[in-house]
Amino acid sequence: MSVSERDIVAAMSKVMDPELHIDLVKAGMVKDIRVDGDKAKLKIELTTPACPMKGKIQADAEAALKQVPGLKTFDIEWDARVRSAGGGVGAPQGQAILPQVKNVILVGAGKGGVGKSTVSVNLAAALARMGAKVGLLDADFYGPSVPLMTGITERPVSPDGKTLHPLEKHGLKVMSIGFLVEADQALIWRGPMLHGALMQLVRDVRWGELDYLVLDLPPGTGDVALTLSQSVKASGAVLVTTPQDVALADVVRAKQMFDKVHIPVLGIVENMSQFVCPHCSKSTPIFNHGGGHKAAEMFKIPFLGEIPLDLKIRESGDAGVPVVLSAPDSPEAQAFMSMARNIAGRISTENMRVAVKLPVIG
Ligand code: ADP
Repeated sequence: MSVSERDIVAAMSKVMDPELHIDLVKAGMVKDIRVDGDKAKLKIELTTPACPMKGKIQADAEAALKQVPGLKTFDIEWDARVRSAGGGVGAPQGQAILPQVKNVILVGAGKGGVGKSTVSVNLAAALARMGAKVGLLDADFYGPSVPLMTGITERPVSPDGKTLHPLEKHGLKVMSIGFLVEADQALIWRGPMLHGALMQLVRDVRWGELDYLVLDLPPGTGDVALTLSQSVKASGAVLVTTPQDVALADVVRAKQMFDKVHIPVLGIVENMSQFVCPHCSKSTPIFNHGGGHKAAEMFKIPFLGEIPLDLKIRESGDAGVPVVLSAPDSPEAQAFMSMARNIAGRISTENMRVAVKLPVIG
């Protein structure tokens, strides 16, 4: 019995993407099918190299192919192409300000000091480690810590006097308000001047093609954060919080701000979740535990992960090498990698929902 291309398509249309809730064929993920007698080759193109569901999709696709009558051997090539909110390669409609950036991920927090920059830097590094093209933009003028956390001491250059080249480090393209303005100056510069400088960082930087631009927002829910969020047409926002119940009020405000400008909140990250003793490995919930979970439940938004309170995270940040790169196999790095996969998965789901008008999943 000879196998046809149609048999392979039929088998793949029975495999569901567990996150997108549509089958691989409808999702446009099955490519380059070639059948030769009882052998088949095909490519499955995931919607992000950071796909949290790859293991499950692979197992289900292989099981489905094993059921095709007459098919003796098959070879699946795995690839990934990050899509934008339009479902295609280009930027979503209206995102003319950053036409080559497929997805802008905002990282926000209700207040300073909760680890927003630590999460931004490690998120960017984790996505790049998984194979995505990533930019990191530090717009936190209250305390631009990305230069320190990435170990960049150079200043960006502008060969044409109009646009700036981002600096490149750790496989990331990086730009920070801290490269352009001294921290104390930025604080004096509030209002229109500061907004102008931040917009310049978004608009006039030669990012090139990016799958993800991680934007570290200023803390709080002020005008600058709001207008910046609106101008870039972000794919979604990640809210960083600490576990204390008191931090909940800040999360509420931040969520309300993103709702007001119709930016989907991708979920909540709980940072400094538990202290893991480096000597005896015992976990201690110094700041209590579970505030992030509570907030996620309250808003019915996903909980994206918890990051331990750990000396290595702070030391790596101060040394300019994010922990996902300096100690890639450590539990702390794994916590960030898992968080990054969850965020990438949520963005793929949001984008696919827009592209094929999927129902909203709570
Ligand atoms: P924010 O951007 O919210 O102001 P930062 O990311 O700059 O916060 O973090 C504030 C300080 O806390 C930094 O010194 C950082 O290294 C440290 N820090 C952040 N998260 C952790 C963590 N999970 N474990 C240990 N130190 C952390």
